[in-house]
Amino acid sequence: MKKIAIIGGGVAGLSAAIYALRSGAEVVLFEQYGLGGLVATIDKIQNYPSYASVEGWKLASDVAAQAKALGLKVIRSKVLSLSKDENLFTVATEKENYVFPAVVVATGTSHNKLGIGDNLVGHGVSYCATCDGAFFRGKPVAVVGGTRTAVSEARYLADICQTVYVVNPQSHFEAEENEVNALLSRDNVCVTHNASVVDVLVSDGDVAGVKIFCNGQTSELALSAIFVATGSKPVTDFIKIDGVKTNRGYLVVDGRCETSVKGLFAAGDVSDGTLKQIVTACADGAKAGSFAAAYSATVA
Ligand SMILES: Cc1cc2nc3c(=O)[nH]c(=O)nc-3n(C[C@H](O)[C@H](O)[C@H](O)COP(=O)(O)OP(=O)(O)OC[C@H]3O[C@@H](n4cnc5c(N)ncnc54)[C@H](O)[C@@H]3O)c2cc1C
Repeated sequence: MKKIAIIGGGVAGLSAAIYALRSGAEVVLFEQYGLGGLVATIDKIQNYPSYASVEGWKLASDVAAQAKALGLKVIRSKVLSLSKDENLFTVATEKENYVFPAVVVATGTSHNKLGIGDNLVGHGVSYCATCDGAFFRGKPVAVVGGTRTAVSEARYLADICQTVYVVNPQSHFEAEENEVNALLSRDNVCVTHNASVVDVLVSDGDVAGVKIFCNGQTSELALSAIFVATGSKPVTDFIKIDGVKTNRGYLVVDGRCETSVKGLFAAGDVSDGTLKQIVTACADGAKAGSFAAAYSATVA
C-alpha cells in the first residue's frame, strides 16, 4: 500500500501532498503551526504564475484547501525526530511515534537569532513584519539585516510605521536594485551600513531602543520594535539518520528529489536547490510527493 509522511506544511509539503494523494497514496502531514508556512506571512506575491498579484495568506489557504479536499490527514504537532530502522522510518512527535515506508522532508528554514534580546519575542522583537508590524503602527522601529528579506520587511514597515531604521551589518544590501531603490526613496527610512546591534534597551519589559555600533562609535535609537532579518538556516536538526548528505546544511537531492537515503525525499527551501521561491518549492513538492508515493509501494 502507498503511504507516506510529509514533514512541513508549507507550499512544498502541500504540493507533495497533492501529488501523492492524487496518485492514490495515504498521506499524513505533520505541521507544528498553521498550514501554508512562510507563504502565509508574505504581503503580496507577484511572481507566481497565473496570479499577477496575490496575497500570501490567500495562496497558502487555497493550496491547503486543495490538499485537504483530496483527503490529506494533518497532524498538528512538531516532529521531534526522524529515524530509520531497516526499511521503515519512524516519525516521533511529543505524543506518539508513527511508522512510514517513505518520508518527504519539507521543513523550510528557520531565522537566525540576533543573540541579544532573544527573550523579548512578543515584547518588541519580531522575525516577521507582516505578522507583527501592525502592532507598531505609527511608531519608530528598526530592521536588522541587509538581505532581500530585510529590504522587503523594511519596505512593508515604512508604509505603517513612523520611522524605520535599517541596521545593516554589511556594507551594502544583498537585494535586487529596484527593491533597494524603492526602499531608499522613502523619506521615513534611515539606513546605516556596517552597523551592529550591541544592546537592546528595555522599559517595563518591552523593547524601548537599541544601541548600535558603527564606525567606531556607539549610539542609541529610541524605538518600539526590532525586526530581525539576519538570514536563515535549513531545519534538519530533527533528522537522526546516518548518511544523509548535506551541502551547507541543506539536504542534497537528485532529480527525483530523493536524498542520499533511500525512501527519504526533500522539497523546497530545506533542499539544496538554487532558487528558493514558491514556484520551485511547489515543483520540488510535486516530484518528492510523486516519487515518495511510488517508492512506498515497493517497501514490504
Ligand atoms: C520575506 C520573504 C518574501 C518572499 N517573497 C517571495 C515571493 O514574492 N515569491 C516567491 O516565489 N517566493 C518568495 N519568498 C520565498 C518563499 O516564501 C519560499 O521559497 C517558500 O515559502 C518555501 O516553502 P517551503 O514549503 O519549502 O518552506 P516553508 O514555507 O518555510 O514551510 C516549512 C514548514 O515546515 C514546518 N516545520 C518546520 N519544522 C517542523 C517540524 N520539526 N515539525 C513540524 N513542522 C515543521 C514549518 O512550521 C513550516 O510551516 C519569500 C521569502 C521571504 C522570507
